[in-house]
Amino acid sequence: MDFRLLGWNAHWRDLFASYASKSLSPGRVVSEHRGAYVVETEPGTRGAVLGGRLRHQTTTRSALPAVGDFVAVRLSVGESGDGPAVIDAVLPRRTAFVRRAAGTRSDDQVIAANVDVVFVMVGLDHDFNLRRVERYLAAVWDSGATPVILLNKADLCEELDARIEDLRRTGMGVPGLALSALHSDGLEALRSYMHEGVTAGVVGSSGVGKSTLLNRLLGREVQATAGVRSHDSRGRHTTTHRELFVLPEGGIVIDTPGMREFQLSASNEVSAHSNAGGVETVFGEIERLAERCRFADCAHQGEPGCAVREAVDQGRLPADRLASYEKLMKELRYEEARLDPSARDERKRVGRIGTKAARRMYRERQR
Ligand code: GDP
Ligand code: ZN
Repeated sequence: MDFRLLGWNAHWRDLFASYASKSLSPGRVVSEHRGAYVVETEPGTRGAVLGGRLRHQTTTRSALPAVGDFVAVRLSVGESGDGPAVIDAVLPRRTAFVRRAAGTRSDDQVIAANVDVVFVMVGLDHDFNLRRVERYLAAVWDSGATPVILLNKADLCEELDARIEDLRRTGMGVPGLALSALHSDGLEALRSYMHEGVTAGVVGSSGVGKSTLLNRLLGREVQATAGVRSHDSRGRHTTTHRELFVLPEGGIVIDTPGMREFQLSASNEVSAHSNAGGVETVFGEIERLAERCRFADCAHQGEPGCAVREAVDQGRLPADRLASYEKLMKELRYEEARLDPSARDERKRVGRIGTKAARRMYRERQR
């Protein structure tokens, strides 16, 4: 297989250069299940296991190979030459979707690596929920990928224009495409994001149409959709083997159970532990306004000289946008406190203040 179809390019070639001399070959992880890997390599698809160095010297779970990772592998040189490969190293990731562990950071788990574009799928049926879109966007930015919103089930929506307008009004500047995966409508616009070598992922609630979309893009039934799944008495996914797919028209899609279940977590907050800042990116305009409030600890609850309230009063900032920001911050504080009870009181105080400046003060005090 032409490795460029799998996303291999000059960037990865440069990173791989130091391994090429050690009789290692490049590979890309297409699935992982309890330590058993499948990697795509230039000579073909191979089962793979961790090499000794990765197995014994890795102290953090996130340093282990994940679906989407480019790796350096030792190919077996047995008679048939298609025995299991040994993964010697993981090339530095460009992006990573991380599931933060409840305990220590060393248990954080990468659920998809090197995803360039993430389609945030929402249903135009009862599933439509702007607040959830905002949270997904925060998570996508946090991973380093670029989001595109997919409004699926357009065939079921009589207020398509209104929904698109809702999305536009949130002012996130993220492209939104309406489609019907079931009827293969609107797929051309989506394909324009999927050039050869581009890796995409799909997130969204269960039942929103992710499997249907993947099957349409691949032109065959690789992922069991809800209707079919219900016949599986144990409720399992019938296709779990492969989690990275090369599309016939170019582009790559990663569909891991972890991505499917991806949920908002405390990792998305700018906190004493993190500098990624997903939420601030999504609500950047509110953070910027807050910097102009008269008081550094303004809670935007009617204090004099509040630039945030002023923007709401003058119609520059939709009130529901501020409300969703406040709601999200509240949920994130709750989540942080759950993960780290010792920090609860301090966080509550800082949370009440809730501006970028206040969090900076808090961070400095923690040093
Ligand atoms: P997933 O859980 O996100 O993978 O969702 P599925 O792909 O399994 O889809 C859930 C249900 O929604 C299935 O019954 C699909 O046939 C249906 N569905 C998916 N896309 C569309 C669409 O564009 N329009 C309509 N009407 N139904 C759809
Ligand atoms: Zn204010």
